[in-house]
Amino acid sequence: MSNTTAINISAVTDALNSLHHELENRLHGIQADLSRGRSQDSQEQAQETENDEVLHALAADARGELTEIANALSRIRNGTYGVCAACGVAIRPDRLAAYPMAVRCVECANA
Ligand SMILES: [Zn+2]
Repeated sequence: MSNTTAINISAVTDALNSLHHELENRLHGIQADLSRGRSQDSQEQAQETENDEVLHALAADARGELTEIANALSRIRNGTYGVCAACGVAIRPDRLAAYPMAVRCVECANA
């Protein structure tokens, strides 16, 4: 491990793109589950409704993350990636490595 503070933009872009791909696959799987046939049994239908609520929540999470990824990729394109949107300092590389969509530094995110 090097102790450079520079962000490896091409590695970040790769990570964001593969995460994007993974989320799209997940979303397709969720949508396939949601469009499956319905049971005729009312008790099973109640269970299905409950499952659907979970699936809708998971789909909403995935869509939210896809939006964050798109925003991160656009920040990379316009050169503002890795800069805290709240205070303007460079976001620490370890934070970006753990969460490449981070918009704010740890201090601002926890504030
Ligand atoms: Zn900040």
